[in-house]
Amino acid sequence: MNQGSLQTRYLIIGAGLSGLSTAHNLGSDYVLIEKSDSPGGTSGTLNYKEFKLDNGIHVLYSNNNSVIDWLQDSIKIQLLEKKRKCSVWINNSFVPFPVQYNLAGLPIGDRLSSFFSLVRPRIKKQMFENFEKYSQAAYGDYLLDKFVRPYNEKLFGVPLSQLNTDWLGNYVPKPSRFKMLISVLGIVSGDYGRNSIFYYPQDGGISTVASKLSSSLRITPTYNSSLIRINLEKRKALLNDQTEIEYKYLINTMPLDTFITIIENLPKEIAIVAKQLRKNSTTLLHILGKGKISRQEHWIYVPDSSIPFYRITIPGNINSANCPTGLFSLTLEFGGDVFKNLAMLENSLSALTAMGILHHDIKELEFQWKLLNCGYVIYDEKRESSLEKVFSFLRSNKIWSIGRYGAWEYSNMEDAILHGKNIASQILNQARTCL
Ligand SMILES: Cc1cc2nc3c(=O)[nH]c(=O)nc-3n(C[C@H](O)[C@H](O)[C@H](O)COP(=O)(O)OP(=O)(O)OC[C@H]3O[C@@H](n4cnc5c(N)ncnc54)[C@H](O)[C@@H]3O)c2cc1C
Repeated sequence: MNQGSLQTRYLIIGAGLSGLSTAHNLGSDYVLIEKSDSPGGTSGTLNYKEFKLDNGIHVLYSNNNSVIDWLQDSIKIQLLEKKRKCSVWINNSFVPFPVQYNLAGLPIGDRLSSFFSLVRPRIKKQMFENFEKYSQAAYGDYLLDKFVRPYNEKLFGVPLSQLNTDWLGNYVPKPSRFKMLISVLGIVSGDYGRNSIFYYPQDGGISTVASKLSSSLRITPTYNSSLIRINLEKRKALLNDQTEIEYKYLINTMPLDTFITIIENLPKEIAIVAKQLRKNSTTLLHILGKGKISRQEHWIYVPDSSIPFYRITIPGNINSANCPTGLFSLTLEFGGDVFKNLAMLENSLSALTAMGILHHDIKELEFQWKLLNCGYVIYDEKRESSLEKVFSFLRSNKIWSIGRYGAWEYSNMEDAILHGKNIASQILNQARTCL
């Protein structure tokens, strides 16, 4: 964007899925600015040599398929439909996911421990004051200790007792104790969770969703352009190249904690509550090389606290087009900032070898690191009341903050697309009633 000033009715910050969907649904009279050089944000893809490398596991799934249908029929994205193949590395073996309904996959001693930790009095509902208490009641001590606690503590970087249960929703559906108990006997009862069937672009990695959505826009987003300051009184935004944009409505999708800090003359009480918003970053390590990975899973959960990463994705199993023939790629996800940490790399390679994933036929390894500064927001006791104050302040200044990080929530790509759609219709309705 050239230095100078311009005016727009709607200023949208960020060309991730929520910003792109907002622009698509507003249709016209907007400026969309994006700090990086391409669309997609967190659901972007690194194109490295012939590899397509997403930010860890990134697959589309849906509550009612309306978004999937819309992406296929209106945005013309060719999607593959897949049945999830997934396991959990537990007690040195791969147990099919969800582990709570595949308890017969555990060694016999562990099967009994998991069974007996389930057949005990239920904890009353009012005891669910935090995620740890909830998990103990829902899964029993065995699964709490072997899976839920170590996995989530690696991912969120805080003790489970500091998390509330507001984020569970569809991500962690309440398990059926009956199904868990009969699974000890080897009776597996059906699929589980929203992503047991998922969708993935036929070409180009997950970023195809964002790039096709971006091509559908009437006004092309402005890339390599960052918002650096906002004057609420004058409703003016300043970009990194000193361009000034005067707007009527602002829709933010960049992380809320950073967004708040660029507002001029921010009231002290808002600055204080915004500082209480907590998050954990996510580090990604792509491992590439020659050879064949023998595992068939799309992704693998790794709760074991002696292993530094919490999840492994195998991009070539999700779509063979993600990985050239004769080569392989793996993506590891770590909670926190371990970007280019060589000790983590060494520990990870040893763990992958111990798991049998890396072996002597795998050669010429290469590594690509990426840090997502904001990976997972933390649902602690202060989150909800802090957000109420921050959002009410922003709304009184004609600012909507949406998307996974703008709304400061645990949500997925479908939610980001729906956020954009809903906010556009809300703003258009409001603008119409003001005419
Ligand atoms: C590790 C991981 C795995 C995930 N797996 C899945 C999955 O399997 N399925 C699923 O459905 N969802 C998954 N998600 C969630 C999904 O990635 C998000 O819900 C979705 O991408 C959020 O889109 P968004 O537009 O809200 O945010 P973002 O994609 O983060 O977009 C925000 C945009 O704002 C831009 N920006 C930031 N600062 C500025 C600035 N100052 N000026 C201009 N632009 C700026 C950023 O560059 C970015 O493009 C996963 C998330 C993570 C972290």
